[in-house]
Amino acid sequence: MSNREPELYDVIGIGFGPSNLSLAIALEEYGAHGLENEISSLFFERQSSFGWHRNMLLPSATMQVSFLKDLATFRNPTSSFSFIAYLHASGRLPQFVNNQNFFPTRQEFHQYLEWAQARVADRIVYGSEVRSIRRSPGVVPEQSDRLLLEVADAAGRAGRIVEARNVVISTGLVPRMPEGTERDERVWHSSEFLERYRRTDRGELRRVAVAGAGQSAAEITRFLYDELPHAQVCAVIPSYGYSVADDTPFANQVFDLRAVDDYYFATEQTREAFWRYHRNTNYSVVDDEVIRDLYRRSYDDEVRGVSRLQVLNLTRVTGVKRAGAETRVSLQKGFDGEVRELDFDLLVCATGYDAMEPTDLLGDLDRHCLRDEAGRYRIGRDYRIVTTPEIRCGIYLQGGTEHTHGLTSSLLSNIAVRSGEIVDSIVARRAELSGEGTVLAEVGGDVR
Ligand SMILES: Cc1cc2nc3c(=O)[nH]c(=O)nc-3n(C[C@H](O)[C@H](O)[C@H](O)COP(=O)(O)OP(=O)(O)OC[C@H]3O[C@@H](n4cnc5c(N)ncnc54)[C@H](O)[C@@H]3O)c2cc1C
Repeated sequence: MSNREPELYDVIGIGFGPSNLSLAIALEEYGAHGLENEISSLFFERQSSFGWHRNMLLPSATMQVSFLKDLATFRNPTSSFSFIAYLHASGRLPQFVNNQNFFPTRQEFHQYLEWAQARVADRIVYGSEVRSIRRSPGVVPEQSDRLLLEVADAAGRAGRIVEARNVVISTGLVPRMPEGTERDERVWHSSEFLERYRRTDRGELRRVAVAGAGQSAAEITRFLYDELPHAQVCAVIPSYGYSVADDTPFANQVFDLRAVDDYYFATEQTREAFWRYHRNTNYSVVDDEVIRDLYRRSYDDEVRGVSRLQVLNLTRVTGVKRAGAETRVSLQKGFDGEVRELDFDLLVCATGYDAMEPTDLLGDLDRHCLRDEAGRYRIGRDYRIVTTPEIRCGIYLQGGTEHTHGLTSSLLSNIAVRSGEIVDSIVARRAELSGEGTVLAEVGGDVR
């Protein structure tokens, strides 16, 4: 192939976390049914190797989803890419069953993901960041049935150009810092926690603070308390106490597959009710076991007459100043309370994430992507952004669809089935575009 002719793929995946890994598996399994089913694909990932929230792989952290909601099982219960197949391959299936636990550690799940990605490695390019997507001039000048992607290598050199008939954007959540707070060598976001922690002289950490009241905040607080026996650990939480994650069976149904349809086809008021009643299944909440574990530490301290774990409740970080080696943190109690300043050796902001946002990547192409009255992307039931008619290629999202597909959009619960639905849509549109059938209405025809 000449240098000037970009490589062309049916599907290019942008980002290679669990969502696009699940898609790669769905494509692999679809292709296994015969040559005519082959869909060429390539995935770009900016990390140098596979990594799923590596900086939060704390030793005792467990999954918040059943191991059965893995990369493939809910789409194909006989898949060789299931968590059970991984356990079998690792010789640990009997031990896992004896352990009688639906929620493996995140470290074990990470090993599973690594095992799965190694089996589709020929279509992943690590150390490569997609910088932009733009229209490729079509055969008919007014129409585009291909997209051009510009990819930078690990050294940041842009240059590789590839063409795709469909792109699947899955670039993940975006870390959020408290307003007025910038990251530096002693102010971290939880998404960079372990990497930074390993590079820090622990002896220097005598007074540390963790801001946030969600799962990551509680896990980091517990970790620092255990790892730094000489240090005072201060949990800065906006609530009165940590709130428990509701994982009881009826509430858990919001993660079921049919809940996606119930949400997608609901009115705006009903969608709001999903969030109002069930936000506490996942957002700003903590597993019961972690809350009790932390409370036990705090109580034991009290019995011993020490006060190593301090909880500043109803309190928010409102700013940070650097004061020599110390980090001066402004803290406000209540919404109109007084602001006071405390010095810490480290502040970790476990203050959450914003939803995936593909606008920058889409650049000029974004004006062909239709939006609703609230300015959010219009998305088909098949996860495809609704575009102006001249864009005939598919721009699919895995993530960033909370407003149309509901609570599971950024979670693992539904990735196996969602990936299958995206493959179905790509196949159906390919048939339609080549004049072999009119199946759009069945698979991808629903549009909000
Ligand atoms: C600490 C933590 C624990 C979690 N635990 C759970 C859990 O137990 N259960 C659950 O359901 N959900 C959990 N989540 C939610 C989480 O969103 C999902 O687990 C999962 O990461 C979603 O997968 P993804 O592939 O969509 O996104 P990600 O895993 O975030 O992957 C996105 C990938 O895209 C890459 N990327 C970004 N931009 C580009 C670009 N321009 N070019 C190339 N590559 C790019 C990133 O490097 C990244 O590897 C957790 C989240 C966190 C932060």
